[in-house]
Amino acid sequence: MAAAKPEIRTFLCRSDNIGVLMRDPATGACAAIDVPEAGPVLRVLDETGWSLTDILVTHRHADHVEGIPEVKRATGARVTAPAKAGAEVPEVDVAVAEGDTVRVGDLVGQVWETPGHCADHVTYWFREAGIAFAGDTLFTLGCGRVMESPPETLWHSLSRFLALPDETQIFSGHDYVLSNARFARAADPDNANLKARAEEAERAGREGRFLIPSTLGVERATNPFLRSTEPALARAVELSPGADPTAVFVALRAWKNRF
Ligand SMILES: [Zn+2]
Repeated sequence: MAAAKPEIRTFLCRSDNIGVLMRDPATGACAAIDVPEAGPVLRVLDETGWSLTDILVTHRHADHVEGIPEVKRATGARVTAPAKAGAEVPEVDVAVAEGDTVRVGDLVGQVWETPGHCADHVTYWFREAGIAFAGDTLFTLGCGRVMESPPETLWHSLSRFLALPDETQIFSGHDYVLSNARFARAADPDNANLKARAEEAERAGREGRFLIPSTLGVERATNPFLRSTEPALARAVELSPGADPTAVFVALRAWKNRF
């Protein structure tokens, strides 16, 4: 039997981190994706009455794991984290790697290793629910900063998302949409879908909302990094229209660093 559709809450943590809770209504199991800080996670648990059973960690950076000890103490949640993060994630119960399966009640996710932003980064893909928790790999209109590998590694990780269905919901770890939109418009100025999306981002910013989740279909149409396969983006970085998407991505990522 198909699992019930998960219930989701997203909320701001720290200054621009996104907290996410995902609950399986059939079993009451509930996961936090990363714990940037304890306070907002505990507050949303209190508001919803949900009981936290799991913490799924995307990567070891402090702004994704700092709240774990306090939330684990308060809830007893099981902590699942990338094996490659080792002891840098506190209080890990389950270490996961490429191809492993995670369960939040009846919701089943697959672990993808998606290095590039950092070497231990993983994405949790809940196929049946149509949800990917992309952490700092893929952002609305952007992608993570490359910190620990050649930029080609991040392109390889991002290109895995291109195989997902358009309706897949993409949850990312930060709200950088306004600065991402400015770069995207510079790199892909003739893209009408992007122009509309950038206007939507401005509106959301004024109303205190963030555009997370996005969908893979929207990102495929508007995110310059995922569009490294398009002739328009190759031209934007002064490569020939048929250039290798990896080279286009590397040039776009370097441009964004200077932008
Ligand atoms: Zn990070």
